[in-house]
Amino acid sequence: MSNLLGQYAEVAGKDVVDHLRQLAAPLSGMRVVHVNSTRVGGGVAEILAKLIPLKRELGIDARWEVIDGNPQFFRTTKSFHNALQGDPADISEDSLREYERVNAANAESLRDELRSADMVFIHDPQPAPLLAHTQERCGKWIWRCHIDVSKPHRPVWDYLSEFLAGYDASVFSMAEFAQHLPHTQYLIPPSIDPLSDKNVPLDESEIASVLETYGLDPTRSLIAQVSRYDRFKDPVGVLKAYRLAKRFTPGLQLVLAGGGADDDPEAEAVIEETREAAGGDPDVHILLLPPDAHRTINALQRAADVVLQKSIREGFGLTVSEAMWKGKPVIGGDTGGIRLQVVDSHTGFLVSTPEGAALRIRYLLHHTDSMAEMGRKAKEFVRENFLLTRHLLEYLTVMVSLANRFEDRIELG
Ligand code: UDP
Repeated sequence: MSNLLGQYAEVAGKDVVDHLRQLAAPLSGMRVVHVNSTRVGGGVAEILAKLIPLKRELGIDARWEVIDGNPQFFRTTKSFHNALQGDPADISEDSLREYERVNAANAESLRDELRSADMVFIHDPQPAPLLAHTQERCGKWIWRCHIDVSKPHRPVWDYLSEFLAGYDASVFSMAEFAQHLPHTQYLIPPSIDPLSDKNVPLDESEIASVLETYGLDPTRSLIAQVSRYDRFKDPVGVLKAYRLAKRFTPGLQLVLAGGGADDDPEAEAVIEETREAAGGDPDVHILLLPPDAHRTINALQRAADVVLQKSIREGFGLTVSEAMWKGKPVIGGDTGGIRLQVVDSHTGFLVSTPEGAALRIRYLLHHTDSMAEMGRKAKEFVRENFLLTRHLLEYLTVMVSLANRFEDRIELG
């Protein structure tokens, strides 16, 4: 067993890794291309950075391509993102034509690779029209949706679904997100990588030094939310919850840690709104971190007593599993993929309002035994359900089934 697979076996179990090798064997040498719209920032980039090397380790010729865009393109795709998660949006004809033009240009520059690939995974709406601009493809194309499309703004979904109709399959994170499409839809929740800098165990000294760097007092309670500055992540709601909880926990500190993503043009405005809502409170730390601050985020999640992810829409929320893997109960918005991870009152709490979040913060900070017990359950829940190995196993299953779509019999090992 390779060194890397051996390391995964230590965390996830040897059986899981044996199963991965068995499923990957018939796919050996297959050319697989994943395409998304940013190399850094956000959950999709986080996943692809780990999934591609592991596929390669298993003998699959996997590559990761990122489309180029311009500001108008990314403003439009951010409006798509918001509309697909339910916000009404009126997107101009001109913006739609630019979206299609940028995709046509990217299809041209990726032409040889897209045409010759055995399998192409297109992530999210940004590159969805690549298929329409790729003639004479020989492989199977799969659209992988990472966002909460349970109640999309219809006109935008109808427009996008025309580009999706030609795909061979699509993948959604949970059943509630599945849509009417003329192909098979697979349900696969995302995952975290236990071996990445974001999630590996850290020495106490490294955690202490991160706290010192950001002026956080290790002797006082700390709550944290790690997220891009996006209104669906509700940073202002987190501030409200913190203020309410502070009435019962003097000295409470809040850290909001985030950065932008190359394909997200709204971050600056949301940071401003968040700063304004914080009103200069010295116990609120609004951090803007560089995209490679993985160990810093790891340390902050470990240092926090309680982690929040108070989203009002969430495709999955990797940050939830990241915190749970560190033995933290998570107070999460009762929405989308957070519901897969937070089992209410067992691995954390699901909340719908700042008041609800404050109540749960107060409960956990004043019941440290329950907090530790929920944190322990949270970690085991992630080990069983949300590690990269399970995610890859399901991707391989989709690949085997698509590659053998018309076979009567499929040999798996
Ligand atoms: N993240 C990061 N730096 C930041 C903010 C977030 O590295 O400043 C990471 C976070 O740890 C997680 C991912 O980006 O791994 C965000 O994924 P998630 O599914 O939580 O949300 P998304 O941004 O995809 O909506």
